[in-house]
Amino acid sequence: MTIERETLEADVLIIGAGPAGLSCALHLSNLIEQHNAAKKSPALSPENIYVLEKARELGAHSLSGAIMDPRALRELVPDFEKTAPLDTPVTGDAVYYLTEGGSWKFPITPPPFKNHGNYVVSVNKIVKWLGGLVEKKGVNLFTQFAGRELLYEKNGIAGVLTEDKGVDKNGKHKDNFTPGYELRAKVTVLAEGARGSLTKDLVNKLKLDGLNPQTYGIGIKELWDVQPGRIETGYVAHTAGWPLTSDIYGGGWIYGMCNNRVSVGMVVALEYHNPLFDPHATFQKYKTHPYIRRVLEGGKLVRYGAKTVPYGGWYSMPRNYVDGGLIAGDSASLLNSQRLKGIHTAIKSGMLAAETIYDALCAGDTSAAKLSAYQQKIEKSWIKKELWAVRNVHQGFHDGFLMGMVNTALQTVSGGRGLVDPMRSEAGYKEYENLHRERVLVDQSTRFKGDGKLTFDRLTDVYHSGTRHDEDQPCHLLVLEPNICGDRCVREFGNPCQYFCPAAVYEMITDKGAPKLKINAANCVHCKTCDIADPYQIIQWVPPEGGGGPNYEGM
Ligand code: SF4
Repeated sequence: MTIERETLEADVLIIGAGPAGLSCALHLSNLIEQHNAAKKSPALSPENIYVLEKARELGAHSLSGAIMDPRALRELVPDFEKTAPLDTPVTGDAVYYLTEGGSWKFPITPPPFKNHGNYVVSVNKIVKWLGGLVEKKGVNLFTQFAGRELLYEKNGIAGVLTEDKGVDKNGKHKDNFTPGYELRAKVTVLAEGARGSLTKDLVNKLKLDGLNPQTYGIGIKELWDVQPGRIETGYVAHTAGWPLTSDIYGGGWIYGMCNNRVSVGMVVALEYHNPLFDPHATFQKYKTHPYIRRVLEGGKLVRYGAKTVPYGGWYSMPRNYVDGGLIAGDSASLLNSQRLKGIHTAIKSGMLAAETIYDALCAGDTSAAKLSAYQQKIEKSWIKKELWAVRNVHQGFHDGFLMGMVNTALQTVSGGRGLVDPMRSEAGYKEYENLHRERVLVDQSTRFKGDGKLTFDRLTDVYHSGTRHDEDQPCHLLVLEPNICGDRCVREFGNPCQYFCPAAVYEMITDKGAPKLKINAANCVHCKTCDIADPYQIIQWVPPEGGGGPNYEGM
């Protein structure tokens, strides 16, 4: 059956209302305002900028640690300190190495973890605030709409198709069926965050990969309300070591926010060897360390969330321009993995994308050749300077923590070069060890349950993420070869999806005597870990109906 779709045309279409997408919209609106005030031609209008966001409201899918380096925001909104919802300036910082039961404070805080001049923020609140500024400019901001498919044209893209709404789980149209829109634009900006589904498709189809494949970490975070006096407001501590073993790249954090609120979390690289490793349970264990426990004990869990971050850095950057399209922020691999910071680079890349688009619209030329100015602008900006200095940091930890520290020291004194430059890397899912088991399911009754006070099981945490999906819709987690799950994967890797998913979405059950995968899609917090870490690369995450997913209020 052919579906008739309404077509809407814009100058610019931005996919994703996160820091990169909204900064692009705001900066472009400012440039258009100046352009119109100077009575230049052609006529341009912020109303011809569309921003698409799949969350139920602005910021609901925005999750970050989050300590913000304000450098880029100061360029975008020079007087941001007057109106931006900043939680607190950082008042003190420290780095600890944890052993089981003990902690050792680094005598001086290593420069990447110095946070003087930065702010602890809720990225959810920052996004809401930025969105308000964008709306005031007259930009069209659509929440609850996901970009389902890119519209390919010539050697590039010409917009997106949004998802059909009102389709039941068997693919039948419900009474409220509404076909998706064909949104066409002269330039489409992909600012979807880490492992965006459209960006993944574009990079694969047009072979835009960087030198190294992208590598990722999974970040798991909780917000707590704690007893007064447990941690100073603005104090930020990062930790290495326990409960992570030295062959796992990652670490934890605890930050003191206003009103006795605490951000506690952990990031783990998705390139560990044991396929039964459970990042969520490891994070729960982390909270039982005396250093963390003394802050949280007697407090209350308020919110939970998980997301992935792109660790690959400069050498994993995809080509970020095509005919009619640009890639920005985390989607473009612009996170500084050593500092664990990406909000500032996301904002700056959005601004550089806006400047590139403005020039292209004025010239009436949105070809890849014209839009390649975006990459040149990145190369000339402080983004390149910052990311170039850490271009080999993540790869340097491939052989463990100690080797990583040695490599980091050598890279620091050689401007990022180190012993080998460029250091190559593999996609993380290739690192799993084969378990060579019988075709028997691993007993799940011994999985981590938590004590319900300091530590929690995954379902309790999912409840605190505010996740909600209409259950009567097609499953948005596509398993392309389901037979592998109940057979090869049981024997070779023990079904790691049951362990790496921080929201208990994947469950192996026995059906008619044989192992079978059950998917509890309604729990999904949209972290994309499964799309990244599945050993056979047969799980494809696609956006569910817009409006579904977590609600990261205050995160
Ligand atoms: Fe993350 Fe995939 Fe689990 Fe959803 S199903 S929460 S995207 S790992």
